Amino acid sequence: MNVLSGKGGVGKSSITTQLALSLSLSGHSVGVLDVDLTGPSMPRMFNIEDAKVTQAPGGWLPVPVHTTNSDKGVGQLRCMSLGFLLRGRGDAVVWRGPKKTAMIRQFLSDVLWGEMDYLLIDTPPGTSDEHISLAETLLKEARPGQVAGAVVVTTPQAVATADVRKELNFCVKTSIPVIGVIENMAGFVCPNCAECTDIFGKGGGQVMANDFNVPFLGRIPIDPQFVMLIETGQTPEYPQGTIINGQDFSKALQSGSSGSTSEVTKDASLLAEKYRDCSLEPIFRKIAQDIVTSVG
Ligand code: ADP
Repeated sequence: MNVLSGKGGVGKSSITTQLALSLSLSGHSVGVLDVDLTGPSMPRMFNIEDAKVTQAPGGWLPVPVHTTNSDKGVGQLRCMSLGFLLRGRGDAVVWRGPKKTAMIRQFLSDVLWGEMDYLLIDTPPGTSDEHISLAETLLKEARPGQVAGAVVVTTPQAVATADVRKELNFCVKTSIPVIGVIENMAGFVCPNCAECTDIFGKGGGQVMANDFNVPFLGRIPIDPQFVMLIETGQTPEYPQGTIINGQDFSKALQSGSSGSTSEVTKDASLLAEKYRDCSLEPIFRKIAQDIVTSVG
């Protein structure tokens, strides 16, 4: 499935990351392909920036984030990013369209994923001709029925909503089925006062999904603890009495599941484990379940 947004910075990569973690935590084998030429961010999200991509006969091997753990019901998570290949060539990618399309085509066909339940593709933001050609390449390279569809990300601000309308029209134009809309940055999990407030208002994503007659998958608040987890490797920790969607997030720490001090290590293989303590995890668990049900 494809994660799209008409606008950069709405949280497309964060959503891709969390969908991947949630699918893997519920036992699926997951791959993430990052074709965002404008700024590949998956290596940073998964803390595998220094990973070396191995060439094998017939293609490239994706980089493992973590392996299968059958005891814990966790499926393997692997990632391949243009970022690995662009490294050392200067980050500003100034290739012209045809070269990009050729690169992306090769990228889609030459990664040796092997068996996998779900492949998430993080695409560049926008709806230009270049994006249309990327979408067409995707559809052409995939086997029939293999592209389950697109998850479209928006934020509650009106501008982003107008932009994402373009993205939904883009899906119609390129015949990519829309799995659903996610409204990101809807509300704020305050790190100090145990409250979740709506800072941008709410409802834009839901209204837009209704207008386009596509499913609305959910609203994701801003949680600075998620950013801390990605940036520093710190296990999420919330003040006493933080209740989000009826779940108390300070309790997990009291009962000692993660100890009383938050663990700080940027070991990529521990990311999914630590993410279990994040307030956004139950929201994404539900969204991932809904997606699995809808795409089969
Ligand atoms: P995009 O891929 O659309 O450019 P990113 O996923 O990189 O956007 O998000 C932009 C910034 O916002 C990142 O620093 C990310 O950590 C932060 N961010 C996105 N969603 C959330 C969220 N729900 N809570 C906290 N921070 C978020």
